[in-house]
Amino acid sequence: MTTNIAKCLNDILKDARVLPVTKLVEHICGLLQKWFWERREATTKMCTPLTKWAEKRLRRRTNKSRCYLVHPINLYEHHVVDGYLNGLVNLSDKTCTCRKFQLDQLPCRHALVACNLRRISCYDYCSPYYYKETLATVYADSIYPVSPMQEWDVPDDVQSVVVLPPK
Ligand SMILES: [Zn+2]
Repeated sequence: MTTNIAKCLNDILKDARVLPVTKLVEHICGLLQKWFWERREATTKMCTPLTKWAEKRLRRRTNKSRCYLVHPINLYEHHVVDGYLNGLVNLSDKTCTCRKFQLDQLPCRHALVACNLRRISCYDYCSPYYYKETLATVYADSIYPVSPMQEWDVPDDVQSVVVLPPK
C-alpha cells in the first residue's frame, strides 16, 4: 500500500496514490509500458558501442587527459603523470591507483591514455553493463495493459475468498 521503496517512483506516483488500488496498478502498468517503449526506441537510435551516458563519460575523460604523460613499464602496466596524484594503470587487471577504473568498470583518464599509447580500443576495457546491447536486453520485454476484468481467469479458490476492508 506504500511506494516508499523507491523515492523517485513515489514522486511520480504522488497524484496517482489517491486512486483505488486497481486503477493505481493500471497507471503503473501504463507508465512502465511507456518507459520500456521509450528506452527501446532510444537504444535503437544509438550509433555507438556504449550507451550515451558511458560515451559521454569516456569523451569527457579523454578530453581531460590530453596533456597527460604516459610511461610504459611493461606490456600491461603504465605510469601516467597527470600533474596531481598520477596513476599506475594495469590494463591486464583493469586497475588504476586512482581506483576509478575499478569503481566504474570504465577506463579512467589514466587508462585511456595507456590504451591510446598501446593503440588498443578502450571499449575492450569497459564493462558489458555499459554496452547498448545490454541496455536493449534490459528493456526487451513488452509491458501489456491489464485485460478487462471479464477476461480474467481467476481460480475458484481465489474467487471464494471474501476480502474485507481493513479495520
Ligand atoms: Zn586512473
